Amino acid sequence: MIIGSHISIAKGYPKAAKDALSIGANTFQFFTRNPRGGKARKLDPIEIDKLRLHVENGDLVNLLAHAPYTMNLASKNESTLEFGRMILKEDIKRLSMLPCNLYVFHPGSHTGQGIDEGINKIVDALNAILTGDEELSILLETMSGKGTEIGSTFEELKMIIDGVNFSDRLGVCLDTCHLYSAGYDIVNNLEGVLTKFDKKIGLNKIKAIHLNNSKTDFNSHKDRHDKIKEGTIDIKLFENIINIESFKNVPFILETPNELEGYTAEIKMLRSLSDS
Ligand code: FE
Ligand code: FE
Ligand code: ZN
Repeated sequence: MIIGSHISIAKGYPKAAKDALSIGANTFQFFTRNPRGGKARKLDPIEIDKLRLHVENGDLVNLLAHAPYTMNLASKNESTLEFGRMILKEDIKRLSMLPCNLYVFHPGSHTGQGIDEGINKIVDALNAILTGDEELSILLETMSGKGTEIGSTFEELKMIIDGVNFSDRLGVCLDTCHLYSAGYDIVNNLEGVLTKFDKKIGLNKIKAIHLNNSKTDFNSHKDRHDKIKEGTIDIKLFENIINIESFKNVPFILETPNELEGYTAEIKMLRSLSDS
């Protein structure tokens, strides 16, 4: 099983790798830049090589980069849109220098223009920037649907994928908290939800999975992560999802409210529930 958590790169990529290994992870997720701003860490070749060694010797695999929350490719505000496009373009370029080929972003919030217009803007941005030569997969995260968020239904994700010229570069990152809050009943009917996803988009498009419990009820359209053993999602869901054969090579990332110690315990617990 490939499992890890979100890890800070504030003290550099080698320290992040060390932290990941110290909690029993074999992957991790990091923000490409300040999640609430946009400032990026400078790329130091020595640091990168140290991280690359871990990926080459296989103790860390399928690293996942997460775009900042300030990147909104669906905004009605022209300067926000421009900023988002600039970040997308730069992040793709920066990631080509890192041993990381999975990049997840929140599709965006339409900020009042309506879902269709928001989706058009996301598609336009991706078409303006993707060249088809990218070595990384760019993943749309499934969202809870809070505010004017796009991407809380499989239909919306499919509309984005269908509109993008180089859609083979796109994939999806499931988030268990978001799915449940969006009204997909993964607790009582995981198989049904995945069948629906498979028919609409295809299970092969799922390249990463965020494992989070939720502080809020089913279909709440809120986005409040909880620890794996707490919250409204039954622990059985996590056992079920990590044992699905087609997710064998998919990285599972914890974004639960924990410090490293808490992540260590959750990873240990999840590994004990895994058949592989
Ligand atoms: Fe996210
Ligand atoms: Fe997430
Ligand atoms: Zn969330």
